[in-house]
Amino acid sequence: MKPSSNWSTADIIATVRRYWGYSELRPLQEQAIRAGLEQRDSLVVMPTGGGKSLCYQVPAELARRTDIVVSPLISLMKDQVDGLRECGYPAAALYTGMSPQAIHETEEQFVAGRYRLLFVAPERLLAPRFLQFIERIQIPAFAIDEAHCISHWGHDFRPEYRRLAELKARFPRASVHAYTATATERVRADIAQQLHLNNPAVLVGTFDRPNLVYRVIPRVDTRLQVIEVLRRHSRQAAIVYCITRNDTEGMASALQDHGLRAAFYHAGMEADDRRRTQDAFASEQIDVVAATVAFGMGIDRSDVRCVIHAAMPKSVEHYQQETGRAGRDGLEAECVLLYSAADALRWESLIEKSARDAKDPAEVIAAARGLLDHMRRFCTGVHCRHRRLSEYFGQRYSKPNCGACDFCLNEVEGLADATVTAQKILSCVTRVGEHFGAAHIVDVLLGADTERVRRWGHEKLTTYALMKGANRKALTNMVYQLLDQDLLERSNDEFPVLRLNEASWEVLRGQRAVRLLQPKKKVAKTRFDEQSWEEVDPGLFESLRILRREIARERSVPAYVLLSDATLRDMARLRPGSPAALLRVRGVGERKLADFGQRFLEVIASYCYDNRLPLDTGDSNRPYGERRRK
Ligand code: ADP
Ligand code: ZN
Repeated sequence: MKPSSNWSTADIIATVRRYWGYSELRPLQEQAIRAGLEQRDSLVVMPTGGGKSLCYQVPAELARRTDIVVSPLISLMKDQVDGLRECGYPAAALYTGMSPQAIHETEEQFVAGRYRLLFVAPERLLAPRFLQFIERIQIPAFAIDEAHCISHWGHDFRPEYRRLAELKARFPRASVHAYTATATERVRADIAQQLHLNNPAVLVGTFDRPNLVYRVIPRVDTRLQVIEVLRRHSRQAAIVYCITRNDTEGMASALQDHGLRAAFYHAGMEADDRRRTQDAFASEQIDVVAATVAFGMGIDRSDVRCVIHAAMPKSVEHYQQETGRAGRDGLEAECVLLYSAADALRWESLIEKSARDAKDPAEVIAAARGLLDHMRRFCTGVHCRHRRLSEYFGQRYSKPNCGACDFCLNEVEGLADATVTAQKILSCVTRVGEHFGAAHIVDVLLGADTERVRRWGHEKLTTYALMKGANRKALTNMVYQLLDQDLLERSNDEFPVLRLNEASWEVLRGQRAVRLLQPKKKVAKTRFDEQSWEEVDPGLFESLRILRREIARERSVPAYVLLSDATLRDMARLRPGSPAALLRVRGVGERKLADFGQRFLEVIASYCYDNRLPLDTGDSNRPYGERRRK
């Protein structure tokens, strides 16, 4: 084998261009690829969409060897192999559920050295029969994808990953390369230690995802607000995360009632039903999935344009992971979190319930509360969301204004008479003797005629109907905002009641001003969004999407595996008029050009003819991102 110093950067780029049609490497990709070529152990941490797969795909091809990739999910493996094959890159996967015949053939091809990469699940890799089989062949390198699954500090712990610790002992001459998007230091250390990495090259990228727009909005009416956000993403892929299984089902049917193509997904479904939802989403038959956290790793659709949290997740790690599923193609995507302090309380009780069976419940509860508290502060704080996320994961954020969060876009709207509203709520709490919960306080303020109001004679209070005509949900949200700001207390009983504290009295005495947020009325357009559509003809982009769907169906692969949205937008921007020009579009390699390039050229030519648009426009060898980012 050629020592790695013999491979120049140009060699690496030539391979990347030939198979994937990219002409530049992303940050850290070259170092990671070199570690692979040198067979030096490595730990590569890049955010979702950062381009980790290229780091193990390129070395195997350049060095003409067959490496093994360990991947946790069949759907992930299949997508990867399909995608590689569409690029003309020889790869295969072995997984449970394949016919013995197919397994046999794949193994034969593998032994004959026909593949550059073989994908396997960890339990398969470590099965005695397979171990014996590969011990006969010298495997030069193992790539461990989603390596955080080995750590129980991570959010996706998989017991079968634990046994990967045996790899180094069994294959002392092979290098091991771990890849993850998980940002925490503890998980990283755990990965290196458990895999027994030997003096690894540790390459840690920036976690910030500049193409994601973060918004946190006070939740007043969940479904209405979700639909409002989804309207901005009509016919685009979106995920709505809910806390419980029931929530996902209710949400999906509400969305369907509004004419959206939606389905639900949670771990309580039959495997077949889950697969059906996943497949429908992958093949663009539905646009929106309402899901619990169970919907995740298998979803490789790179064109998810919107992720909504209908409720607050239980940690910043979860939030980062779930929002991370948006915009993997590098194009803009919107992440909206509908926040209410009620979520924190709901999580508190779920945490306590689930800790009951733990060995050391107090410790488990304390840890979970700590994580929850960080998440709550992320939601309630008035600060740049990008900065906050970067800093949470221990990285500096240097931009003074990210231009891509509700705070920096100046969208956060305070209620004009917040202090007066707060005083009305607080005085109602004292009038009922600090013996009632939020729902009753709201009833009294609205002047509701309920059995309970009559029983306690609360219709005679001065605060009765003090806020008649106000929106019930909006008012409830404000009560929770006061709780959140510690301007009001809530007892910790089975039937919690609201009580005043020192700060409440300061508000009542007019010694303290209150700030209450209301749902945003306006949403600013981001610069990123404008730029990524610059010079793109939207009609042409849609025509290209239709053609992509058609070809994907013929070839039985998901559309996003065939070509990314970023590539289609580039095509709709450059409007190539010849094969050579098409090859200059980012994401079109030699194989794709040969397999279906002509069909894209035809659609582009006829669209341009019909709409009197010139062909071959723009600066074709530099995509917009690089062109602007300077
Ligand atoms: P990760 O595994 O880190 O989440 P992927 O490897 O799936 O990310 O890459 C995300 C997307 O970025 C893919 O569509 C991939 O083809 C693309 N990509 C990777 N490297 C480059 C590059 N150097 N230039 C342009 N696009 C790239
Ligand atoms: Zn910001």
